[in-house]
Amino acid sequence: MSDLLSALSRNPLLRPLAKRAGLPAPQRLSRSEGPYEERPFAGRHVACGAINATAAGDAAQAALHAAGASLADEHGPADLALFDASGMTAVSDLKALYEFFHPLVPRLSANARVLVLTAPPEETEDSGLAAARRAVEGFTRSLAKEIGKRGATANLAYVEGGAENRIDGLLRFLLSPRSAYVDGQPFRVSARARLNGSMPLTATLQGKRVLVTGAAQGLGAAIARRMAEEGARLVCLDIAASRQSLQDVADASGGEILLADVSAADAPQRIAGRLAALGGVDVIVHNAGVLRDKTLAKMDERLWDLSLAVNLEAIVRIDRELIEGGLLHDHGRLICLSSISGVAGNVGQTNYSATKAGVIGYVASRARQLAPRGITANAVAPGLIETPMMMSMPFVFREISRRMNSLSQSGVPRDVAELVTFLATPGASGVSGQTIRVCGQNLIGA
Ligand code: NAD
Repeated sequence: MSDLLSALSRNPLLRPLAKRAGLPAPQRLSRSEGPYEERPFAGRHVACGAINATAAGDAAQAALHAAGASLADEHGPADLALFDASGMTAVSDLKALYEFFHPLVPRLSANARVLVLTAPPEETEDSGLAAARRAVEGFTRSLAKEIGKRGATANLAYVEGGAENRIDGLLRFLLSPRSAYVDGQPFRVSARARLNGSMPLTATLQGKRVLVTGAAQGLGAAIARRMAEEGARLVCLDIAASRQSLQDVADASGGEILLADVSAADAPQRIAGRLAALGGVDVIVHNAGVLRDKTLAKMDERLWDLSLAVNLEAIVRIDRELIEGGLLHDHGRLICLSSISGVAGNVGQTNYSATKAGVIGYVASRARQLAPRGITANAVAPGLIETPMMMSMPFVFREISRRMNSLSQSGVPRDVAELVTFLATPGASGVSGQTIRVCGQNLIGA
């Protein structure tokens, strides 16, 4: 799908005209192709800083080294930056953020990645220290807004005590081009979900059975394709009317199709029947969704009922059947598609936003419940992503919406697929109960 301003800014003849007219010139975002690599940061230069030595910082440094990063020269360019603020003891320690990043920001390359670590504010009884830890989030979000025009991103990880050994996977995701459209997000790394012994860094979903609903097109198709690259064995589900495109996606992913309307009364039993025959499921991606926008005063009851049935009730019913039926394996993953409309609400979307906010509450509850079995549950909240759904927006509104984020552009389905795939991997065992936005730090609800 063509993005007018991005096209203008890449055209050497028209670029000066666009600049003179004061139009934004979105930076082309670097993205990864293919599956995870053993040493994704080979040839990348990292600037590291810390307030005091901590277990979290040590684990992150070791992970960076193992992933092939080399230290940036003191005055040279930096592709990656890692700052460990977990060792703060007082508000005055925040000055270290200024001292590290003030000279570094001009040295950050286009598409640079910044990751800041801190400890959770609730883990201290010292109110001043709690304030300092929370301040790091405000700092990181603002930094992300400042460097976004270069296609660079900044994210934060609150690392809970005892979860330091779970940083590796998150760090590899957030400091790589795979997180191109994940920006200004506070992640939480916790030890609540029981840990699995093996944490492969490549072929991360080898042999795992994955169900993706709504896989015939858009985000679902991209998720299926990306997970297949990691070795997943896919069951691609969609409605009967999408049979041909679903078959194409399944063929490209080496998977099989399952035709079902997720909101049908017998859908949970039919899905369970197929998965039981395949020996159960490791990852469930609830992606199928419908948009039925209308202001509440003008909304037909059918539009309300359909949205609720497909976007929320189906998820609850299907999972109940699969979990109570013992079909979701230990160390499994539940991933639901939410939306920034679920975070912030939106005009004409009372039905849609209710379902997408419902999903946020749902994964938080499931995460608590399933942690003893090592199962994680998370929601992914996309912003504006270039899919067929987006083309229904009027041109001017679409162009304006594309600029309402720190990167001044919309995302692509692969961006969402990368985040969903990361959450499905064993290396994401520290991330559970969260709603992660993949929205380029969209202004809505930020
Ligand atoms: P899409 O309309 O392109 O694809 C949705 C798929 O779900 C289709 O293949 C459709 O046939 C299938 N589906 C719909 N109802 C179904 C049902 N009852 N049973 C089985 N399958 C059904 O949408 P998309 O843009 O790829 O969005 C995927 C998910 O991401 C949705 O949940 C959507 O709400 C969410 N999302 C998308 C965006 C975006 O910008 N594209 C933003 C935020 C959230």
